[in-house]
Amino acid sequence: MAIHLYQSDLPGSLKLGPVVAIDTETMGLDPRRDRLCVVQLSDGSGDAHLVQVQKGQTHAPNLERLLTDPATLKLFHFGRFDIAVMLKAFGVTTAPVWCTKIASKLIRTFTDRHGLKYLLADLVGIDVSKQQQTSDWGSETLTEAQKEYAASDVLYLHQLKAELEARLQREGRLELALRCFSFLPARAELDLLGWDDANDIFHH
Ligand code: MN
Repeated sequence: MAIHLYQSDLPGSLKLGPVVAIDTETMGLDPRRDRLCVVQLSDGSGDAHLVQVQKGQTHAPNLERLLTDPATLKLFHFGRFDIAVMLKAFGVTTAPVWCTKIASKLIRTFTDRHGLKYLLADLVGIDVSKQQQTSDWGSETLTEAQKEYAASDVLYLHQLKAELEARLQREGRLELALRCFSFLPARAELDLLGWDDANDIFHH
């Protein structure tokens, strides 16, 4: 397992395959207020690729190409947030996407625990630390602990997707899940425009 760190963009020569797990680290939890600091990617092979985004940066051409490539499925855990953050940072709509949190909510109706830590422990048997979650991601130099934490958020998403997909299939909810994933980029855009959970357009 290796963690590669890049400044501002992915190398143009990097090929990550048909399904790429992606996560982001930001200054906070409001995609309209808090800037994007790090984008983490993994092809499921055990390596992680981290892109540090500079303050004020508005484009990352190689990353944008991957986010918008119709032949590459972007795999997230709570993609709604990451898609909104990257739309705000780079002006691109990420698609097509798959989200392990939505999948979990559609299939694991026996629990309200859908956090990544719980899912990895329950379905993949991996224990990840969440210690660095609230650290300062805007720092110029990331610590080893931050890099390892950032990597751990994408390294196991392929395995998790496989487990969730099998359960969705078994219970006849895979088609519905796929239609929810298709809507995610629009859901993220609504968040940026101010239609958040408090102003749900589907609510009465
Ligand atoms: Mn993360």
